[in-house]
Amino acid sequence: MSTAATTELERLLGTKVLTDPDRTGSWSRDQSPLADVGTPLAVVRATSTDDVVATLRVATSFGVPVVTRGAGSGLAGGANASDGCILLSVEGMDEIVEIDPARRTATVQPGVINSALGRAAAEHGLRYTPDPGSRDISSIGGNIATNAGGMTCCKYGVTADHVASLVAVLPDGTVVRTGATTRKNVTGLDLTRLLIGSEGTLAVVVEATVWLKPVSEHESTIVAMFPTVDAAVQAVVATTARTTPSAMELMDRTTIAAVNALTGMGIDAEAEAVLLITCDGPAAATEAVVCEEVASAHGATEVFRTDDRDEGAELMNARRMALPALEKQGSILLDDVGVPVGLLPDMVAAIAKVSAEHDVVVGTFGHAADGNLHPTIIFDPADDAARQRAREAFADIVRAALALGGTVSGEHGIGSLKLPFVTEMYGAAEIALMHRVKAAFDPDGIMNPGRGY
Ligand SMILES: Cc1cc2nc3c(=O)[nH]c(=O)nc-3n(C[C@H](O)[C@H](O)[C@H](O)COP(=O)(O)OP(=O)(O)OC[C@H]3O[C@@H](n4cnc5c(N)ncnc54)[C@H](O)[C@@H]3O)c2cc1C
Repeated sequence: MSTAATTELERLLGTKVLTDPDRTGSWSRDQSPLADVGTPLAVVRATSTDDVVATLRVATSFGVPVVTRGAGSGLAGGANASDGCILLSVEGMDEIVEIDPARRTATVQPGVINSALGRAAAEHGLRYTPDPGSRDISSIGGNIATNAGGMTCCKYGVTADHVASLVAVLPDGTVVRTGATTRKNVTGLDLTRLLIGSEGTLAVVVEATVWLKPVSEHESTIVAMFPTVDAAVQAVVATTARTTPSAMELMDRTTIAAVNALTGMGIDAEAEAVLLITCDGPAAATEAVVCEEVASAHGATEVFRTDDRDEGAELMNARRMALPALEKQGSILLDDVGVPVGLLPDMVAAIAKVSAEHDVVVGTFGHAADGNLHPTIIFDPADDAARQRAREAFADIVRAALALGGTVSGEHGIGSLKLPFVTEMYGAAEIALMHRVKAAFDPDGIMNPGRGY
């Protein structure tokens, strides 16, 4: 059966199909070190919607599972090959179809890299605001399929808040167009929102029209050092009650040390935490003053501010280096929990407790103003006991977030890595409903089976 499927794929798509395991291996995993990886039957390197339609029709007729792959920067194993799957890469569908400055939209193929869209929009004085730390290495299709977040969500929202309409291919090859490029649309069910964050389990996104915003003329950046992580997150809670920064990022002492080691930046290594804050828009300077006042009132040992955009971007770059820097310290297991912002102090206390109980090093950074933290467990991959302790600590951190009314994943998605925790967040009725929705899109259950929910 599977040989017949690859023969048919090769007949229809020729050299776009790879079956040699020496070549398919490099497409088979994302950036999550501990998520399961299988061996694909074939990799298809699609360059058009027609290629996607042909691949899905073959998959449906032979009953072969399909894993869609964007840029492979995911952190939950969602794009990892499963055994015997067709790994459908849409990386080569990377055309910016249109930028419409009057309507403030961009229409793009799914493989367009986030920062490439940002650069193209900037030529029109516009910007695409969703900015994951992976903006240079993640695709718009992947961002949509994971409902990616980033630094500016606290003011501008997540990917879902910026998608007007989608073109997607269903497993039987039907092409559907969802949503509208009107500012308002309540016609029928919101299929766009269903596809966003669905991690390739419903359909393959082949085109997206997204909203752009004008580039902000004003931007202030504040760096505030704190003697405790608790003081830093208390400042986050107080700041977000008074104003709306466009980013408010936390790094703890372990993360600061890792970033300093990787970049040579001289962030105060004595501080237990740093907040990196930006304010933008016409009220940037006023809002920045509020942020400075609140930081000082919460015991910041040093508060530095710049209104120079380039200098600010350099400072924020320290935060963008957090994950690569921690990766240099050993193997990592990265959590992505979210809690209501007011409960951030409880969450950081819980992380400290888990770290002590399991004797693991945890570097915590994240989008503090969203209540979305990435406690990152660093362990020696050669030490089986350490690996086990890391897994247990990972689970306990998720459970601590759930106990605070939080979420298993704020932005990275569930993939396979966090699947066991979904049933701890939602009940049987909600999970069954998700599976009924999936069955409506994917009656044969071939789209990224066993992932997401
Ligand atoms: C250094 C680093 C920093 C990061 N920072 C952030 C951050 O700040 N915020 C954040 O949200 N994430 C972050 N991530 C995680 C990751 O970059 C995002 O999840 C991103 O959205 C994945 O995009 P991708 O193109 O790499 O998708 P992939 O990893 O290829 O795929 C991710 C999921 O989407 C599905 N998929 C991909 N393309 C399509 C498509 N066209 N149609 C249907 N399904 C599809 C896949 O099947 C898979 O389930 C970071 C990752 C790294 C390595």
